[in-house]
Amino acid sequence: MKKTIFSFVLFISSLILAGTPKFPKNIIIMIGDGMGVSQVSVSVLTNPNSSFKRFPVTGFSITCSADKLKTDSAAGGTALACGESTNNGSLGVDKSGKPIQSILDLAKQKKLSTGIVVTSEIINATPAAFLGHTTNRHESELLAQQFTESETDIVIGGGKKYFVPDSLGGKRTDNQNLLAKLVRSGYEIISSYEELVKSNAQKYYALLEPSDLKAANQRSYSLSELTQKALAGLSKNENGFVMMIEGSQIDHGGHENLPDVLISEMNDFEKAVKTALEFAEADKNTLVLVTADHETGGAAITGGKLDGGNMKIDFASKSHTAAMVGVFAFGPSCEMFSGVNENYKIGRKLLMLLNAQHFSNSGE
Ligand SMILES: [Zn+2]
Repeated sequence: MKKTIFSFVLFISSLILAGTPKFPKNIIIMIGDGMGVSQVSVSVLTNPNSSFKRFPVTGFSITCSADKLKTDSAAGGTALACGESTNNGSLGVDKSGKPIQSILDLAKQKKLSTGIVVTSEIINATPAAFLGHTTNRHESELLAQQFTESETDIVIGGGKKYFVPDSLGGKRTDNQNLLAKLVRSGYEIISSYEELVKSNAQKYYALLEPSDLKAANQRSYSLSELTQKALAGLSKNENGFVMMIEGSQIDHGGHENLPDVLISEMNDFEKAVKTALEFAEADKNTLVLVTADHETGGAAITGGKLDGGNMKIDFASKSHTAAMVGVFAFGPSCEMFSGVNENYKIGRKLLMLLNAQHFSNSGE
C-alpha cells in the first residue's frame, strides 16, 4: 500500500515538473473488440475523413494476458479497466483471484457519473471487466447481479435475459427479478431505442435485446447515437464522468472471417469515435482513449482500389492473435499514452489520471 501511495505521489510530482497543464475531468474509454491495426486500416483506407486520423497521440498496446500469449476479452478488458494483468477468463480480479478496483468503481467512489455503452450483452467479457469480479467469465447470472450492485448511472446494450427469472421468460435460475430491483433503486428500465430517445431519466438500463444487439448493418440505430444519448446524460454531473464504449462485434467479423461484417462494424465504431471526439473538442476537459483488447482473425488487407473500393481482406486465423493493437489518445494528458505500452499499464495510467484529477481539484 505504501509503495502504491509513493508511486502515486511520484507520478503526480513528475507530471507537475513536466509542466502538464491539467488532468481530464472526464474520461471516455473506447474499445474496439478484436480491432487490430488492419481493422483500423480498413477505416482509414475506406474513409478519407476517418476519425482515427484526428488523434494527436498514437501508440501500441501489447495485449498478452498474465497466463497466455493470446488474451481473451476477459483478461484484455480487465487490464484496461483495472490496470492489472490477469489470467484468461478472469474479470475484475487479479491473477490470484482477488477482486480489484476498476476505473468505474473508482469513479463512483469519487462521485463521478459512470456509464457503459456496448453492442454486445452488457455482461459480456469487455463490459463485465469494468463492473464484475469473478475468475469465470461465464457466470452470467452472477455478473448481472454484480452490475445491479455497482450503482452505474447509464448502461446501454443487450443481454436483458440475464436480469429476468426464467418464470418470466428470462434466463435466471435463482428466480430473482433484477429489473424490478433496479426500479426500486430509482432506475428506469428501457426496452427499445425509441423509448431511449424519449427518456429523460438520469439513471437507466437500456437493455435493447435479450442477447447481443443486432449487427451494425442490421440495426436501425448506430453506436454513435447510443453514445450521444449517454454523453448527454453523463455530462450533467459537474464532478465529471467516466464511460466505456465498446464496438463489441468487430470481433465477430474476425472470428467468422467475414470482411463485410468487419467493415460495417468498423464503420459503426468509427462514427461513435467521431461523436466522442466532437464532445471532447467542444468540452476541452475530456480525455478520449481508443484501443482494443486484442486483434481477432489475423486480418490482412490484400487488395482493393486506391480509393478504398473493393477492399479484399484475408484472414490467417479464426481466433484471437497476439498482434499489438493501436492506441489513440486525445485531450488532457493524452501524451502519456504514446509509445509501446503493456495493456495493463494503459489501465493503470487511466486510474492514476482519475486519482490525479481528484487530487488537483481538492488542492485548489
Ligand atoms: Zn473474440
